[in-house]
Amino acid sequence: MGDPSCIFCRIAAGDVPAAKVLDTAEATAFLDIGPLAPGHTLLIPRQHYESILDVSPAILAAVAAELPRLARAIINATGAEGLNVLLNTGASAGQVVPHLHWHLIPRRAGDHLGFRWNAGRYAEGESDAVRSAIVAALNA
Ligand code: 5GP
Ligand code: ZN
Repeated sequence: MGDPSCIFCRIAAGDVPAAKVLDTAEATAFLDIGPLAPGHTLLIPRQHYESILDVSPAILAAVAAELPRLARAIINATGAEGLNVLLNTGASAGQVVPHLHWHLIPRRAGDHLGFRWNAGRYAEGESDAVRSAIVAALNA
């Protein structure tokens, strides 16, 4: 099941040390080795899936089911005011480790973390074309 060349498979198997905070049949969670804030945690499926593009919906559901209690625990333990849940998919989106993982990043006012959220605007008719393309892809 595990991919021996995958660092997160090796962490899930216990072959590589990590500061684990949660272990279930389908999921494991551990502190990110390069935290954006103390308590920055990664939640992963124990099985190897590269990303949200190839994960089985049932596994995704089982792992994602841990998000609420893990988020509450991180906020309570760190005293954070909030939390970002981030799932990078593909290198252009910042995914470095090709094993599906959610980042849970504790946040507080003035922490200077965040996206450059450069919101754009659709040109006339553009959103109709984009919407139609997505609906067609969903139904293909
Ligand atoms: P990505 O950019 O793929 O979304 O995030 C990968 C994350 O995994 C990074 O934040 C990085 O610090 C973390 N990471 C990479 N290798 C290890 C490791 O061996 N142990 C732990 N605990 N975290 C790791
Ligand atoms: Zn893996």
